[in-house]
Amino acid sequence: MTGQRRDTQLARGQVPPLARATVEPYLQATPGPFYYQRNAHPVGAEAERVIGQLEGGHAALFSSGTGAATALVLAFLRAGARVAVADGGYWGTIGLLEGELGSWGLETVSFDQTGEPPDADLVWLEPCANPMMSFPDLDVVIARAHAAGALVVVDNTVLSPLLLRPIEHGADFVLHSATKILAGHHDALIGVVSCARAKDHTRLLAFRGASGIVAAPDPAWLMLRGMKTLALRVERQSAGALELARRLADHPAVQRVRYPGLGPDPVAARYVDAFGPLLSFDVAGADEAARVEKALTLIENATSLGGVASTLEARARWEATRVPPGLLRLSVGLEAVEDLWADLARALDELR
Ligand code: PLP
Repeated sequence: MTGQRRDTQLARGQVPPLARATVEPYLQATPGPFYYQRNAHPVGAEAERVIGQLEGGHAALFSSGTGAATALVLAFLRAGARVAVADGGYWGTIGLLEGELGSWGLETVSFDQTGEPPDADLVWLEPCANPMMSFPDLDVVIARAHAAGALVVVDNTVLSPLLLRPIEHGADFVLHSATKILAGHHDALIGVVSCARAKDHTRLLAFRGASGIVAAPDPAWLMLRGMKTLALRVERQSAGALELARRLADHPAVQRVRYPGLGPDPVAARYVDAFGPLLSFDVAGADEAARVEKALTLIENATSLGGVASTLEARARWEATRVPPGLLRLSVGLEAVEDLWADLARALDELR
């Protein structure tokens, strides 16, 4: 049999075929761009093109957001380097940096990203930090970090490039757990790093091929497919989150709501027009938080965020040393906001 057709025509908006082949034959004894899947595959290359364009940079996919974070550190830092990480940000990132990468030789300091970054080789920011919801003054913090000789990565998981493009504010790298709003349906584990500079992208791809921290075609395809509706999802989920944040703030069983859209936070409002799907709020304590988790019927009591189905969980089960025992993290999906509020209000009313 002779070679297959390679010039598949796609209708506008179509996702390329899900090619799972790990090898592609050489042409005229010459390896093509997809000769071996660990280095590149067609669906991944298309996903990287789309994200890179949205972000104004050069994107590389990884097996998860955490895989992307691991690759970023190992590709650009050396043992003995220092990372300054936003203290209200994703618990798993801080755990990775302090724990696994700490035993490899990384030094990690946490800092309040609404203030000055400490001396470091890499400054790690997270606007709408998960779950403490702080928002850095990106232009100022990035300029200070650069002036002190640091690289800067912005974890843009919560907002997505639809709401915030950190490279335009000077970030060297943007990281996503694309598992969340980029893929959007709680069915694909995948990560992205976008680089401001082509030479850093080349370095990252070399590290990725050597380390094997790669995204398989299936999750890349699901992400590409999910991204067709990203703009609509981001708009609707942000609007739902803002409305629920306002109503939660008025509920007597809720002690505090964290959402940069409330007020709104004047710093965040300078950078974004909408504030994403994620918020957190406090009830009196661990018992009350557990009662809310058990009482919900529409909102899934589950981890993760950014999907079309709303999820809520008490974060103290994972990060009790730093969050209040009654902190509930809510990711707002695409359900009707009145239905979501009815679910929340009924659960909260039972606490009174
Ligand atoms: N960054 C943020 C802000 C996250 O919320 C998460 C996961 O929850 C990650 C990174 C890690 O991503 P993954 O679960 O895809 O490894």
